[in-house]
Amino acid sequence: MKKRILMLSLSGAIVLAGMFGTSLPVGAVGEGPNYGGNESIRTSILHTYDEMVKELKTQDQKQEAMELEVIGKSVKGRDLYLAKYISNPNNPTILFLTQQHGNEQLTTEGALEFIKHLGTAKTKGVLNNVNVLILPMLNADGAMGDVNFPLDDYVADGGRHLTRYNAVKVDLNRDHDTKQQPETQALHNHVLKKYKINYMIDLHHQGTQSEVNGKLVSGSILYPTNSSVHPSVLEKSKKLGALVYHAVNEKGWGHLAKYSGGTTTNIARNGIAVEYGIPTLLFEMRGMSDHYNDDYVIGQKSNGYLIKQTITTLDATVRGIADGTIHTVNTDFWDSLPTQTSRTDKAEDE
Ligand SMILES: [Zn+2]
Repeated sequence: MKKRILMLSLSGAIVLAGMFGTSLPVGAVGEGPNYGGNESIRTSILHTYDEMVKELKTQDQKQEAMELEVIGKSVKGRDLYLAKYISNPNNPTILFLTQQHGNEQLTTEGALEFIKHLGTAKTKGVLNNVNVLILPMLNADGAMGDVNFPLDDYVADGGRHLTRYNAVKVDLNRDHDTKQQPETQALHNHVLKKYKINYMIDLHHQGTQSEVNGKLVSGSILYPTNSSVHPSVLEKSKKLGALVYHAVNEKGWGHLAKYSGGTTTNIARNGIAVEYGIPTLLFEMRGMSDHYNDDYVIGQKSNGYLIKQTITTLDATVRGIADGTIHTVNTDFWDSLPTQTSRTDKAEDE
């Protein structure tokens, strides 16, 4: 049955390709505009922290299946929210985490859109067989530029700057071993230790200049790479990645590479897989919402497809876990997935 659906959608794609010749947007995505050096990047089109909270509360009121929990506070005292869909404690549970780095916001925009979808007929029935936890904007202070260090040289405008670091200039995605920061503690003590989580995707943005096969990528993915990760956890992580890879590829506009990342357990992708035995996937989408380095900032005309890429990722993994596809999905692509390289020499950190 699965195979037949896949074949049907493939032939549909071929029909479309026939209609539009070779001008389908395949590969056009990665080549989409990034910051040109003089146009303005309006951060005002992104949800502020307060607007995000308002949206979460609105959806919580509307959606019977949704529950909203405060899991802790940021350095500056902002409540950190977890959106929960737990229909049956025995269901497998997936956690989506966004914006550990405050300047990587389109994944949060996508997550908020996905939360809206979960309240509509678009995902009817799916939540009967899977529990979903969504933690958007873990680094709320960095996202609002409310930090104890200057951001004067950041590129974007529109009322606020967004930065990678939390308010005291700590990189939260290097704090998963010692857990010194309140944001990291909230995630570990009130989510990872509290709920039985079977899968996790950590959503980020990388710079704009990564490529494979001569084409800029729409993103890159990676499983945990610390040597203490249990082989079964690694295998499940690869399967999680397979659901994402195939879903994004089938959209036509996606162009994914393998991320080249570190092995240390202070990184969520590794630390959470080692400490809790949770299969993890890192997804680095193209381009950041703000940065002092021009090369990292994405032109806002690319926002639409990157938000879609997030929604596709969340939707595909929730469905694949709900219907059990994740157990049988083919992971062979990992062996041939090329590691991205950068057109510039600047390092890009997860
Ligand atoms: Zn990041």
